[in-house]
Amino acid sequence: MSDLMLELTGIVKSYNRGKPGQVDVLRGADLQLQSGEVVALVAPSGAGKSTLLHIAGLLDTPNEGTVQVAGAELTGKSDRRRTVTRRQDIGFIYQFHHLLPEFTAAENIILPQLANGVSQSDAETRALDLLARVGLRDRGTHRPAALSGGEQQRVAFCRAMANQPGVLLADEPTGNLDPGTSDQVFGALMELVAGTGMSALIATHNLELAARMDRVVKLEDGVLVTV
Ligand code: ADP
Repeated sequence: MSDLMLELTGIVKSYNRGKPGQVDVLRGADLQLQSGEVVALVAPSGAGKSTLLHIAGLLDTPNEGTVQVAGAELTGKSDRRRTVTRRQDIGFIYQFHHLLPEFTAAENIILPQLANGVSQSDAETRALDLLARVGLRDRGTHRPAALSGGEQQRVAFCRAMANQPGVLLADEPTGNLDPGTSDQVFGALMELVAGTGMSALIATHNLELAARMDRVVKLEDGVLVTV
């Protein structure tokens, strides 16, 4: 079995294609993520980090190039097939937590598991275990509004991990937090990923955090270069 969890090959993406004002964001980006590898994605704002993450997370399609997740080629596959892969194999984390406000922290982690066919009791056990691992054992019954920004984001990490995806994609996951909280929350994320074999691609502006990852890649003129 291949240890390659995510492979992007020759990804090209332009907006307003063929029209005046065409924006060529990705011009042949290549990336390979091995199992267990945590990689920082750095680039200035507007360089195309979100575009790349959305293509890797099957939320958007490239104009050219191929996306493979856990060995499966997803290019040109049906929406249904892509949705199943997204639900089972990919965890996505945004800058803002996007937790469902009317549900508790634990319920926010349970719901995606139920959608994936896990039983209520197994989903509950896993949610509480994940919360405990990020230091939120006692916060399961709290709604997001009753949690601090750093706590909300740690719950969002647990939710992204709920279905044990092979690939974790994060778009500036600590961008909304003050430096101290950012550091702590990043540490919680590394704890969750450690030893799972999961690979992660984490966009960040924070070069100190980037330096704590296994590898740093930079998006430069639409291609990825190793720093
Ligand atoms: P980053 O995440 O690095 O800040 P983005 O991927 O959000 O960069 O955006 C890259 C470029 O693509 C920017 O110039 C942005 O304005 C442009 N862009 C992003 N989405 C769209 C869209 N839907 N339509 C047109 N241009 C877009």
